[in-house]
Amino acid sequence: MNPAVKKNLFGLPLADLETLLAGLGEPRFRAKQVYAWLYEKRAGGIEAMTNLKGALRSRLSEDHEVRRIEIADRQYSTDGTIKSLFRCDDGATIESVYIPEARRQTICISTQAGCPVKCAFCLTGISGYKRNLKPWEILSQVAHVMDAAHEASPRDERPWNIVVMGMGEPLLNYENTMAALRVLMDPAGFAITPKKLTLSTVGILPALEKLKLEPVRPNLAISLHAPDSKLRGELMPIENKYALKDVIAAADSYPSPRGGRVTYEYVLLRDVNDRDEHAHALARLLRGRNGKVNLIPLNPAGPIPFEAPRKVQVARFEAILLEAGVPVSVRKARGQDVLAACGQLHLKKSGAAS
Ligand code: SAH
Ligand code: SF4
Repeated sequence: MNPAVKKNLFGLPLADLETLLAGLGEPRFRAKQVYAWLYEKRAGGIEAMTNLKGALRSRLSEDHEVRRIEIADRQYSTDGTIKSLFRCDDGATIESVYIPEARRQTICISTQAGCPVKCAFCLTGISGYKRNLKPWEILSQVAHVMDAAHEASPRDERPWNIVVMGMGEPLLNYENTMAALRVLMDPAGFAITPKKLTLSTVGILPALEKLKLEPVRPNLAISLHAPDSKLRGELMPIENKYALKDVIAAADSYPSPRGGRVTYEYVLLRDVNDRDEHAHALARLLRGRNGKVNLIPLNPAGPIPFEAPRKVQVARFEAILLEAGVPVSVRKARGQDVLAACGQLHLKKSGAAS
């Protein structure tokens, strides 16, 4: 068989591995062993799976391999943030970010190459949409970033935290995203507890309803960005399809892991959605709900037609929400020197921004 067309084991769920190994006349537990090598131990190839007999490894290798997407570029920030750019087989480029924090290590992953939602302030949206990522392409990002972090400091025991907040709208790629998340949250897979995995969405309602019914669900973050439908519609064309009030109603009944709160993300754009009146309206909208607000000062970049908020206004906005009893945090800018805003590394590489 031509090695170029070998089937990839990486990204397969346990059920598929069971079918494959049963076809080779192997007992059921063999699939579990391969699964553990792929995701728990992040083996780089079939030959590394040392508790499989040599003959089985050879047979498997005839038409299978362990393959991840290719690392195209890495940028190291002085604050420890690492930005990775990956190149998929068809040339599409996507990115992930590693963010070390005091008590945890966070990985931000992408679910689409580009994004069709086209929010006005987002570089990924501005740069266009290519396609949905496959489960193995989503899991590759996590495995590569974990390997890089482990290489940099092998004894780092801080727990992993994963946020689905990179390029793309995960709920527009529901099946592939969930296939990847199931392996991430599986105690026999990457073993990320659901509480430490957060999926961010603009609120694609039919998919959000499906997510609520999943037996194991991540935390939910809703991209709100405006306290009313009119302003939200100006920033996010998706508002015309899935309106703010319906998205909030759907989020109200989201069964968060261990009874946690839904996060409402709010990118602050100077003089557009960051005034006192917006903060008061947001407080009225969210007061009494089981939610918290994460304020994100805009990461400005050439093609983005908005400015970052003034520091004093960020503090005022936060204070107004706190005063009204709405839990709020402000996201710290990380990796500024390596172009932190979503989509920036990708654009730099394709020459569209500097
Ligand atoms: N598509 C999903 C998840 C990816 S975007 C969503 O929109 O929720 C993740 C977050 O990054 C969103 O809250 C988005 O508003 C924010 N974001 C996008 N561009 C940004 C920028 N230039 N500066 C700061 N945050 C940005
Ligand atoms: Fe897509 Fe999210 Fe960017 Fe909007 S903010 S364009 S949904 S990636």
